[in-house]
Amino acid sequence: MIDVYEREGVTCIEGKVIKSGRKAGMIYSFLTDGMVIDTGPQTLESELIPIYENQSIDLVILTHSHEDHTGTAAWLQENRNLPLYIHEKGVSTCAEPCTYPKYRQHTWGIREPFKAQPIGETVQSRHEDWRVIYTPGHADDHIALLHENTGRLFTGDLYVMPKTKVIMQNESISLIMNSIRTLLTYDFEAVFCCHAGYIKNGKNLMKQKLEYLEHLCEEVKHLHNTGLTVTEIDQQLFPKNYPIIEISEGEWDSRHIVTSILSEEKLRNENFSI
Ligand SMILES: [Zn+2]
Repeated sequence: MIDVYEREGVTCIEGKVIKSGRKAGMIYSFLTDGMVIDTGPQTLESELIPIYENQSIDLVILTHSHEDHTGTAAWLQENRNLPLYIHEKGVSTCAEPCTYPKYRQHTWGIREPFKAQPIGETVQSRHEDWRVIYTPGHADDHIALLHENTGRLFTGDLYVMPKTKVIMQNESISLIMNSIRTLLTYDFEAVFCCHAGYIKNGKNLMKQKLEYLEHLCEEVKHLHNTGLTVTEIDQQLFPKNYPIIEISEGEWDSRHIVTSILSEEKLRNENFSI
């Protein structure tokens, strides 16, 4: 299911993935000034292709290599002969056949390999200049894309929601916080998030997310200092049972937030004591 609408000169392509009659995920791709930002998942390819076929497109920017953002990249490369750009750390992942777990294949489809080029520090679309900002944490090849003249910012999966409750096993809370801090040094207003869509007051919500994570770090460290285990801290701070934990067989879990915060704290203490 696809919905298409305009916000601040950006075509928002809102995709809803339905599996077994239930909503399995929301995912956006965006198009502005002849530039596609993230391509949507392979499961929505049959609905996305007619939209791409009706558009004049010069290039594709990928905020990171996850399959819900890159699933139709191979089609765009083969059928529209478009150049695709990603952070240099994502180039080899894009060239590999699908290596991610079954539950992600089921939701987002099988991403075909494609050849991406390493992105530079800036990007030129037809009439506009964009700044590329490296923002690791959710993924090590993650970038944000900023149009400084208008304050429009594409944030991939850095925002998603203000109060993060579950993360993937290889995400880093401290890197996510540093990436948000980096973004907040820039002048921007509207955020285009690949799972939450267009957010008019995006900068405020980014600030709120950072404050939430800072507070969470303090809570985790405090509970750890009182002698609680990772499991006990997890149960106290995140008592709800999120279905994604079971569906993903633990690739997503609230306890990864606790372990990420504690392992980064341990690393910091070790470095201090050297
Ligand atoms: Zn992602």
